Amino acid sequence: MGVVALIATLFVAAGASLQTRADLGVDVAVFEEVENQPPLERPDTVEMDTPRITFGAEDHAHEGVDPPPGPRIALVFDDLGYRTDGLAGELLELPAKLTFAILPGLRASRAFAESASVRGHEVILHLPLEPVDLDRHDPGHDALFVDLDPEENRRRLSELLEALPSYLGISNHMGSRFSSDPGSVELLLREVRRHDRSLFFLDSRTTPYSVIPEQAREVGVPCLSSNLFLDGTDPKRVRPPVQTRRLRRIADRRGQAIGIGHVRHETVEAVREAIPRWQADGIRLVGLSDLMHLDPRAAPSGGSSP
Ligand SMILES: [Zn+2]
Repeated sequence: MGVVALIATLFVAAGASLQTRADLGVDVAVFEEVENQPPLERPDTVEMDTPRITFGAEDHAHEGVDPPPGPRIALVFDDLGYRTDGLAGELLELPAKLTFAILPGLRASRAFAESASVRGHEVILHLPLEPVDLDRHDPGHDALFVDLDPEENRRRLSELLEALPSYLGISNHMGSRFSSDPGSVELLLREVRRHDRSLFFLDSRTTPYSVIPEQAREVGVPCLSSNLFLDGTDPKRVRPPVQTRRLRRIADRRGQAIGIGHVRHETVEAVREAIPRWQADGIRLVGLSDLMHLDPRAAPSGGSSP
């Protein structure tokens, strides 16, 4: 065994990760998609330490109150709606406010949304958008696609927006192709705003080429970007316990951080372990809407609002 290999072995034995930025770091972690597309190369966009507040940053100076103490973390769980029991049910019982991104139109979408709201969690609608690799990742037959007729995209969107009874915002499910196409994203956000001016958007950042934040600023939809994914399709490559620590560091540095996870055993365990530690350190688990500066004059609710 060479010296380097020996050091590497000792390093691993000590519990350290040998994976480099290139194979694990922010580039993979941030852009690791549900679709598991390979990370794209664009080093200048790799580090996204701060949720990009693209419309009306929270500004306590103008509210005449002291800024609240301690960093804030919003944990978002994606792809809910398949069931209300099992791991999904366990998430509902975690002792912290979480945000659930629910795919509309699934068997348990409405029931899960209701259970989450009753327990004080936040609900957002998880909107299926076209990925770059359709062969390997199916966003669903009702997803929005770049090459669809705009009228058809509007029709689909309108149906999707009506499919959940109540939600505070929207995030993209997949969408690595759709969210990098300015015209498609503009159409989407204009329709969202027309549907309900109180809705915000969370850019899941499934591609570094997403134009959602810029377009949201343009259209006037409050928007933040996720900082990282807590997991990936390969738990050895993107490890939830490592990701929760990274999320914590981002929150410490920036005052707030957003992490997206999925209903997977390793992720739920990592979060279950992290929450009491964070809370003991004065970190507040908040809903996504708490990180957005929303217009109080806007309508109160999404979906079935008048
Ligand atoms: Zn998703």
